[in-house]
Amino acid sequence: MKSGWMRLLVSVTISASMGTAMAVDCAAIRAQYNCPANEKYPLHLSFDDGPALQTASVLEVLQREQVPATFFIIAEKIDCETVLQQCQQADPASDGKDCTAYRECQTRREILGKTKQMGHMIGSHSYRHLRYSGVAPDRMQRDFLASKRLLEPFFTTQPPLFRLPYGDGWFNRQQTGHVMQALQEAGFQHVDWQLSAFDWDEKNQQGDKILQNVLTQVCSRQKGGVVLFHDGVENQSHEGRLFTIEHLGEWLPAMRCVVDFKPLDYFVKGYQSR
Ligand SMILES: [Zn+2]
Repeated sequence: MKSGWMRLLVSVTISASMGTAMAVDCAAIRAQYNCPANEKYPLHLSFDDGPALQTASVLEVLQREQVPATFFIIAEKIDCETVLQQCQQADPASDGKDCTAYRECQTRREILGKTKQMGHMIGSHSYRHLRYSGVAPDRMQRDFLASKRLLEPFFTTQPPLFRLPYGDGWFNRQQTGHVMQALQEAGFQHVDWQLSAFDWDEKNQQGDKILQNVLTQVCSRQKGGVVLFHDGVENQSHEGRLFTIEHLGEWLPAMRCVVDFKPLDYFVKGYQSR
């Protein structure tokens, strides 16, 4: 016997393969997550740890579903000059430009350019994705500024946006005020999240657990916000958060039963678009 969600998945899969939009059974979704009837909560999607080579698929899904999003970028992943130097050192006889790592880096830069072109918001997620509360102040400042220099052509706001890795500096802001202070001195505006998909956790990467995480939070609180997803994996640049990338196109129509997708400025004020 198939659960309501399995039936839904089948219909979404069929509709995707037929290329037509088939109605999602919203009554079943609301019942499954105990969501009040006729209520929709505002939600903004954010993606951390990219860009990955597969982020292009995320952009396709967002375009198809007409959903705006914000991407917080690990600047090291688009630092192609450094990658080129590493390639040249590994093979001093070549100019390094044929090196796979360099070509992949350039592809990631192109994907980031496309992300901006499509109208999504782009912010920094630091240069090296460290736990900055444990990093010496001068090193922390260098890292923040390096990310600012690399991402400058891609930022979409003034001041540029930033999200700290691991929720560090705002989760524990009572003890780590210096991290938020350093961010401010580097000229960034910090953006946190109110809901998490917990999609980084491998035990959630099966069935509909990630969708369930989001809708359970939305419907139990009867409140939306900025939700945290991941298109990238913090410590690898070639491959992204594949389960999320693969299934996002199924989750968004189901989420729409309960949420209205909003741009970032619905929740976050204090910056100007550029
Ligand atoms: Zn991260």
